[in-house]
Amino acid sequence: MSVSSGTSPSQAPVGIDPDRPSIARVYDGFLGGKDHYAVDRVVMGKVLEAVPEAADIARGNRGFLNRACRFLAAQTGVQQFLDCGSGLPTAENTHQIVHRLQPEAQVVYVDNDPVVLAHGRALLADEEFTHMIEADIFKPRAVLENPVVLTNIDFAEPVVLLHVGTLHHLVGDDGPAVMGEYIDALASGSYVVFSHFLDPEVPELTDIAKRIEDVLVRGPLGAGAFRTRAEIEAMLPGLEFIQANGEGDIGLVPCSEWWPDGPVLRNPSPASRCIGGIVARKP
Ligand code: SAM
Repeated sequence: MSVSSGTSPSQAPVGIDPDRPSIARVYDGFLGGKDHYAVDRVVMGKVLEAVPEAADIARGNRGFLNRACRFLAAQTGVQQFLDCGSGLPTAENTHQIVHRLQPEAQVVYVDNDPVVLAHGRALLADEEFTHMIEADIFKPRAVLENPVVLTNIDFAEPVVLLHVGTLHHLVGDDGPAVMGEYIDALASGSYVVFSHFLDPEVPELTDIAKRIEDVLVRGPLGAGAFRTRAEIEAMLPGLEFIQANGEGDIGLVPCSEWWPDGPVLRNPSPASRCIGGIVARKP
């Protein structure tokens, strides 16, 4: 993968620091987007030097998000989606997938990256059922008590809460407490869509995870922890894990294998097994 194209700092919108890499822009770069700066491409280059197939992690994650949205919109009838850490708009976004199946479902996006907020607001200007807010997703009350969220999401009814590719960027051990606060606010029958960098606990794959983690955590992003299946599942207290794939696996699986309705990808690349996805229901 080349990391040579993108936006130059002179084109940076007001309020955006082109000298500091951003999680959203680096991730967008790995997905093939154009909204990244030289400083982001340095991080991408170092990750690719450590693990040349690292972009498979981003692609596997985004594919999981898309399939989970399609599955939940088609099969659960839940009409409210709260997408925390939604990222830069790509070709297929949560509201587009959901609205093909549930045209009047409410979708609220949350992020704190200025580039994400600018693109998101432009994309959503004419949308009736989709909103974007700025908040710190690691402070659940800031999201759950935001006026736009409270106007558009009724927490007495089931909600699909998405935290996809977010909690590995939280430094420290507060993941279970943060997610517990969100889960407490959800009505019975709600779903959580969750993904996280995964230490697959197999020596050769753990080495891939470790090499990427070293670049992310020790580099200017300062975060990006790979956790084990048990550590990740512990972030979803009180939830029932649903079937993850056609093999009958329950709970967390590599994102590329999460597809309860369809064929599981055979022989995924080793790196793609280093991000895990899970969909869970609040009883
Ligand atoms: N959920 C999308 C996906 O899986 O395709 C994007 C994932 S991207 C790896 C992580 C996103 O979380 C970025 O857009 C980043 O700006 C956002 N994010 C990270 N920390 C955040 C925070 N404290 N508050 C709000 N958003 C945050």
